Formats: sequence, structure tokens, C-alpha cells
Amino acid sequence: MALPLCALMSEIKRIPPRSGVAFVLPRGARLKVTDPQGEQVADLVAYNRDDTGEVLSNGRTLDYLSKIYLTAGDPVYSNRSRIMFEIVEDKVGRHDFLLTPCSADTFRIIYGDKNPHRGCFGNLAEALAPYGIGPDRIPTAFNIFMNVPIDSETGVLKVEPPLSRAGDYLVIEAKMDIIVGLTACSAEQSNNYAFKPIDYEITEAD
Ligand SMILES: [Zn+2]
Repeated sequence: MALPLCALMSEIKRIPPRSGVAFVLPRGARLKVTDPQGEQVADLVAYNRDDTGEVLSNGRTLDYLSKIYLTAGDPVYSNRSRIMFEIVEDKVGRHDFLLTPCSADTFRIIYGDKNPHRGCFGNLAEALAPYGIGPDRIPTAFNIFMNVPIDSETGVLKVEPPLSRAGDYLVIEAKMDIIVGLTACSAEQSNNYAFKPIDYEITEAD
């Protein structure tokens, strides 16, 4: 029996540890990203579905908001200075929008890995390929639950364990039709040295 559309759209999906997905989030729809076990980061990127040259921009967003930590009520802007989505709920209040998705090079340079994992970058590249988006077009992600405190005097940053506990979540609402790339982050430091899944759910706006 066919399910009604709303039931299909409210299905909770799980991203296995160290992997990623991509999907379309229509304008007005909401995406709930949940940390089911706690202390797990999810990297999020977004592209205008109708013109993927338009992509979320940490520079534009941090500039217009005049702050580096985003939370509920904050819009996220594109490279063309249009609002792509807005954060509408946030149970954690600490996310990063400064650092690029972890990658094989991240693991080689920071961790000294000889055979590095492809990281969120590689996972996003694979997930976004069907949408015609190549790896060179992956920007700095909005790193949900990533905890990067900054020393305000020196600018030195640290990657600390996420403040998210099991079941904590963040909800965004799309302000245009967007292609979303989303991962369960693969970097040891970002996730307190344990790789966990990320859950997500798409719902229609209230
Ligand atoms: Zn990552």
C-alpha cells in the first residue's frame, strides 16, 4: 500500500559512521539532524538545486551575522548573498562554520596517517556526484555539533569534543530548493575519538 507523502517525508534515516548522503530539501521543508549517541559531528553543505553554482558561504554568513557561532534564528547565506536556509531549532548551541570537511589530506597532514580515510570530503564528493557537483566545488561546510573554541586574543582554535548529548538535534528550514550533502564525520578529534552515526529526518514546515 502506498504511503501518503507526509509519512514518507517524516521517515528517520541513519547515516552510518564515516559516511555521507545527499538529497533535495525543497523550499519550506525542514531537516532535523540528530546526534543519536552523542559527541558526533555532521558536516552539512547546500547548493541551489536549480543552479549549483550557488552554494552556502561561511564567509558571507559570518560577515553578515557578525559572529562565528550560529544558532536558532540565524540564516545561512549563499555565495550570492541569498538566504539558503535558516536554523529554526538548536538543542546544542555550538557548531563550527570555519573548518573545511575532513579529508584524506586532513588525516595525512594533521594525524600523519599513511593510508588515510577519504573523510567527509570524499564522502560528500561521492554523494554529490550524481547531482553534477565535483569535489572542487565542495566549500567549507556548516559543521553541526562541531565544537571549535577560539582564543579571542590570539585567534588560536582548538577542536574539542562536541557538546551534543544523545538525542540532541538541530533543525533547519530551506528558504530555496537546495541539494544538501550531509555526513557522519570521520575525524577522530572532532568526535572525541569514536565514530558514530547521524540521524536525519525531512519534514514539511509547520
Ligand atoms: Zn569530517
